[in-house]
Amino acid sequence: MTPLWMQNADMPPPSARPLPNRVDVLVIGAGYTGLSAARETAAAGRSTLVLDAGELGAGCSSRNGGQVAYSIKPTFNSLRAKFGEDLAFRICREGLDAVTYLRSLAKQWDDCGWRDDGCFFGAHTPRHFRQMAHDAENQPRGLEQRISVVPRTEQHGEVATDFYHGGCVYHDDASVDPTRLLLSLLRRAQESGAWVMDRCPVDAIQSTGDGFEALTPQGIVHARQVLLATNGYSGPLSPWHRRRVIPIGSYQIATEPLGADRVRSLIPRGRNIVDSRRVVVYYRPSADGERIIFGGRAALAEKDPLACVPRLRTMMARIFPQLKSVRVSHAWVGWVAYTFDTLPHLGQHDGIYYCMGYCGQGVPLAPHFGRRIGQQMLGLEEGRTALDGLPFPSRPYYHGRPWFLAPSVFAYRLIDAIGI
Ligand SMILES: Cc1cc2nc3c(=O)[nH]c(=O)nc-3n(C[C@H](O)[C@H](O)[C@H](O)COP(=O)(O)OP(=O)(O)OC[C@H]3O[C@@H](n4cnc5c(N)ncnc54)[C@H](O)[C@@H]3O)c2cc1C
Repeated sequence: MTPLWMQNADMPPPSARPLPNRVDVLVIGAGYTGLSAARETAAAGRSTLVLDAGELGAGCSSRNGGQVAYSIKPTFNSLRAKFGEDLAFRICREGLDAVTYLRSLAKQWDDCGWRDDGCFFGAHTPRHFRQMAHDAENQPRGLEQRISVVPRTEQHGEVATDFYHGGCVYHDDASVDPTRLLLSLLRRAQESGAWVMDRCPVDAIQSTGDGFEALTPQGIVHARQVLLATNGYSGPLSPWHRRRVIPIGSYQIATEPLGADRVRSLIPRGRNIVDSRRVVVYYRPSADGERIIFGGRAALAEKDPLACVPRLRTMMARIFPQLKSVRVSHAWVGWVAYTFDTLPHLGQHDGIYYCMGYCGQGVPLAPHFGRRIGQQMLGLEEGRTALDGLPFPSRPYYHGRPWFLAPSVFAYRLIDAIGI
C-alpha cells in the first residue's frame, strides 16, 4: 500500500536519460543519506550519479514517521564506559548537531512540513517515570536538551490517555513530512549537479585499480569513488555490510480523516508521541492534522503490512480506546537498519565508502552523516565525525537474515507486559 505521505506527493517521473559510462562519484541508494552525500560531491564539481534499485522513495526516506529527535541510542554513560569521556561526549554531540543541521535546512528551504512541536515521551511504568525524571534532571553538561517532566495527573494536557504513568516533553524535538523532505533533498542534490536515476539496481561492484566498475541491468558505470547508502535495504551487493546491519520492518498505519478537532482532543499540542516500552510505538498527527499516524513493530516475523493492521489497531486502541472502531485508510512498511552496537557507522571498506545503521532514527541522522561522508569523499576536514574509525561489529553466524528477531521481539513483549 502507498504510504499516506506519498499519496499526494509530486513524485518525479523516472529518469529518461541513458546511464553514463563514467562518473567521479557513484552513490548507491537515493534516500536521505545518498542524496545528502551527492549534494556535497556534486556541489564541489565532481560528476555524481545516484542510482536506486526501486522507484524514488522505495526506501525508508519516503515512509517514516517524520519524527525528529536526538537519536544516538546508547546513553552517554554507556558510551563513556566504552570509549572514555571525550569520545562519548563527541558522539552524543553528533546527535544534537544532526537535529540542528536538519532544522536549519528545513527552515531555510521551508518546503518539508517542519513543525517545532516537540515530543511527549510516555512512561510505561512508574519506575520508568522515576528514571525519566531523574535523567531529565541530571543531563550531562554540554548535552542538555529542554525537557519538562509531566506527572500523570497532568498528562492529559499532552495526550488524552491514562495508559502512561506520566512522561517527559522534549521541547527541541520536531517533525517533518518525510516524503517532502526526500523531495527537498532530491531537488537540492539535482540543483548542485547530481544526476539521480531510479529503477536501476547495482548488481555488482568490482575494483579496477583506479576506481570501480558497477554492473547494472542498464550497463556498466565506471566510478572513481563509490558510496553505499543502502541502510536497511543492504542486500547481496556487499556481504560485508549485510553482515553488519540488521534489517527490521517498521510498520505504520494512518487512520481515516478524523477531523482536526478530534485529533487535537487526542494530542492537544500536536506533538510526536513515543513511549518507554521495549517494543516501542510512535505516533503523531498527520501533516494536515486530520488523522493519527501510528507505528511500531507489529509482528514477530516480517509480514505484509496489511496483515499487521489488526495488531496496530489494537495497539492504538489500548492507548486511545476512543479510536477502537475508526477505519484505517493506509498501511505500509519500511526496513530500518539496526547495528549490533546501536550506533550508526560510516567510513570505508575495501575502498568503498559507506554510511548506514541509524537504528530506526535516520530522519535527522541520515542527512547529517550523509553530508559528512560526502565531505569525506572530497577529502575535507569538516567531514570528520566522532564515529570515524569505530569498529563496525558483526556476529558469528549472522549473514543478513535476523533469525533472532522473532524470539527477541517475543521476549521484549513479555518484558513490556510484565511492566519491568
Ligand atoms: C515506518 C518507519 C518509520 C520511521 N520513523 C522514523 C522517525 O519517525 N524518525 C526517524 O528518525 N527515523 C525513522 N525511520 C527511519 C528512517 O526513515 C531511516 O533511518 C532513514 O530514512 C534512512 O535513510 P537512508 O537514505 O539511509 O536509507 P533509505 O531511505 O532506506 O534508502 C536506501 C535505498 O537504497 C536502495 N538500494 C538498496 N540496494 C540497492 C542496490 N543494490 N542498488 C541501488 N539501490 C539500492 C533502496 O532501494 C533504498 O531506496 C523510520 C523508518 C520506517 C520504515
